[in-house]
Amino acid sequence: MNLRPLLDHSETELADWIAGHGFRRYHARQILRWVFDRRATDFAAITELPKPLREQLAQSWTVFTGSIDADVTAPDGTRKLLLAWPDRRRVECVLMAEADRRTACLSTQVGCGMGCVFCASGLKGFERNLTRGEILEQVLRLRNLLPPQERLTHIVVMGMGESLANLDHLLAALDRVCSPAGLGLSPRRVTISTVGLPDKMRALARHNRPYHLAVSLHAADPELRDRLVPINDKVGLNDVLAAADAYFAATGRQVTYEYVLLHGVNDRPEDAHKLGRLLAHRKAHVNLIPFNPVPDLRFRRPGPDAIRRFEEIVRGYGVAITVRKTKGRPIDAACGQLRRRVEASPAPAT
Ligand code: SAH
Repeated sequence: MNLRPLLDHSETELADWIAGHGFRRYHARQILRWVFDRRATDFAAITELPKPLREQLAQSWTVFTGSIDADVTAPDGTRKLLLAWPDRRRVECVLMAEADRRTACLSTQVGCGMGCVFCASGLKGFERNLTRGEILEQVLRLRNLLPPQERLTHIVVMGMGESLANLDHLLAALDRVCSPAGLGLSPRRVTISTVGLPDKMRALARHNRPYHLAVSLHAADPELRDRLVPINDKVGLNDVLAAADAYFAATGRQVTYEYVLLHGVNDRPEDAHKLGRLLAHRKAHVNLIPFNPVPDLRFRRPGPDAIRRFEEIVRGYGVAITVRKTKGRPIDAACGQLRRRVEASPAPAT
């Protein structure tokens, strides 16, 4: 039986269905409040509804469509879920806790078509976009792992897939999360990470919400970027930067540039000088990400001295820069790694 995914429908669509079945429209609002605020994951739990409505809903609708194929916790508390959709395709999402922050890291696609040479998510290519409901389901499933008194404080769209290649579904999901009818999260606490698709970055700017944009730069030199981020030869470094500048101009939000540090590839002093020169006159922030080793990939993470040297050179240009802490190391928390391991093992977890 094909059940309608609740999270893929608007409140109006749900209310129409409810009215069509002879019940009052306001029950739609109640259902969404129970799902978003009270963590209901099935209709039987929504005791505020008339029993016959609960029963009819359960026959036609479902709150979640996925199932949990793996649930792993790292010693630092980082928790990763591997979700399987009805077509058996899988994505990962991660919950991170630090001080008062509770951050959900979301996927937007199964696989990825960008082909960044150091990334595990794209090794098998692009499979499909996630729906709005599948993106929202990740948010709610991660939030439901928190103790009752805790709330999600941040979202980072840094899981599997190229976020902006699935812009419409992503924005529909995020706008819901940030609306009072969703989780009421501030859009300023949502970071969307992109490989840098200029047209989509401009579309995001036109959408006019103060989401924080992070651009995966990884090289300040066009030829080196072509090698590490193959999509670059179609878009070009200059257009990526121009679109990022336009995003800042339109939203007033400072753009973050992510830079994966790969030993001997893009971590040399000359690379740091190029990056510093490129960003010196921009209001930008650099986030250095020491490479997370991926089995089968030959790249290496630089040592702490090389990381520090790189950071200091860039800072010397007056550019704000931080090094990202690695979280969840023993649970393959870097994007795409858990799915890869599960799908490579002879008897995949079901
Ligand atoms: N498609 C989006 C989201 C990718 S994941 C993007 O390109 O931004 C978020 C960040 O992790 C990106 O900057 C990505 O390049 C980086 N990343 C991917 N694989 C990595 C690895 N093995 N080690 C460190 N960072 C990695």
